[in-house]
Amino acid sequence: MELEYWLERGAVAFREWARTYGEFAGHPATAVDEAAFEVAFEELTARLRGSYPFFHPCYAGQMLKPPHPVAVAGYVAAMLVNSNNHALDGGPATSAMEEEVVGQLAAMAGFADHLGHLTSSGTQANLEALFVARESRPGAGVAVSSDAHYTHTRMCHLLGIPVQTVPVDDRGRMDVSELERLLCAGDVGTVVATTGTTAFGAVDPLHRIVPLARRYGVRVHADAAYGGFFRLLADGEAQLLAPETGDALRAVARCDSVAIDPHKHGLQPYGCGAVLFRDPEVARFFRHDSPYTYYTSRRPHLGEISLECSRSGAAAAALWLTLRLLPLTREGLGGVLAAGRRAALRWAELIGASPYLEVYQPPQLDIVTYYPASAADAPSRLSLIAARSSEVMRRGMNTKEEPVFLSVARVPAAEFTARRADAVADSDHTRVLRSVLMKPESEPYLEHLHHRVEKLAKAACADLRGDGR
Ligand SMILES: *Cc1c(COP(=O)(O)O)cnc(C)c1O
Repeated sequence: MELEYWLERGAVAFREWARTYGEFAGHPATAVDEAAFEVAFEELTARLRGSYPFFHPCYAGQMLKPPHPVAVAGYVAAMLVNSNNHALDGGPATSAMEEEVVGQLAAMAGFADHLGHLTSSGTQANLEALFVARESRPGAGVAVSSDAHYTHTRMCHLLGIPVQTVPVDDRGRMDVSELERLLCAGDVGTVVATTGTTAFGAVDPLHRIVPLARRYGVRVHADAAYGGFFRLLADGEAQLLAPETGDALRAVARCDSVAIDPHKHGLQPYGCGAVLFRDPEVARFFRHDSPYTYYTSRRPHLGEISLECSRSGAAAAALWLTLRLLPLTREGLGGVLAAGRRAALRWAELIGASPYLEVYQPPQLDIVTYYPASAADAPSRLSLIAARSSEVMRRGMNTKEEPVFLSVARVPAAEFTARRADAVADSDHTRVLRSVLMKPESEPYLEHLHHRVEKLAKAACADLRGDGR
């Protein structure tokens, strides 16, 4: 079905509901001139053409894709109401939907009991978890890996929490023995483990981190903003994930809190994040009063357990409708994640067999990292790898016919040489190409994508030879 169908379903549903109220006169204050609208809208759409084609499998860069049409229908229907899930007074219907979807996310995470809510983003979800971490362990610090999302350090700064950085192993995962050394010192109150790092999709060994943290009486927060939905692939006989990745994803159930972003792998429009706490008693840290917003109900308002005030009720409606049709099961939304995962595995295989590309790190989820290298010029210098990676990205997006859109990630020299001992560290960092294969459409398109990227890499290797010729 065409996009117009889904948009219309949402709009018609709103209009039919609105008609159940009495007629009323419009006001000229909000009237706009039709011709002026045409001009302005023309300008808007022209400017939007400056966007990258996130919907198309030729876009294989960052974690970006459009929402599912079902989410669009749900979002439009509720967005026209413009309910606000801060309080039941603002969004009685959508608050109930939010509680239901949060329950489904908690069940996926494996929490028997929970307190949680949607947020406008993963950053906000993590901020709330860090806030609870601070209140639960006053004065203690937070440990994060060097590959954790940059916002953890930022939010800890905001909250006045000291941060300790734990190095990563040669697969980008938190180094557990280094973590133990830190915990021994006794300054850490909470470990933030990432099940799916943003840059490389590395999954911290949460199944080893949780028991270690417990031994030291330390809390654990799982940042599963990107990787959380891969939990749907962690069980069952079709082993798409490495056993240790599955173990780590299952261990989220034993964490104190988790952040999961439905606007990343849950097919939702921005902004839709979620934070869940295993112990509902943490509600006490959020306690406050709002004399002008909490009055129509004795039931708790979502705003009473969150740090944000106004928040889109449409985000809850869109997720609710999506999960009705693509539930949090292996057969439901799991099918979407499985396609991206298979595409990542297959691409790593193709890259491994290519004379012009090399895998930087075998994909643990659906992020493939790689760099241009011709067999003739091994060992490679880091500066040359960086220049060639950037060149492939630049040429890919700027070619008029059949562009491809990739992204690059910065890698410290030590992390690169941990994987490639023969690389020449002539710079303190390098850059590798990075593709998040989060659209299922990437799977059938993969051979084509590989062919295009291989051609670009071949050309970049020929033009940037690195020997001064
Ligand atoms: C994307 C991401 C975040 C931040 O989430 P936003 O929704 O972009 O604010 C945090 N942690 C990880 C691991 C992420 O991938």
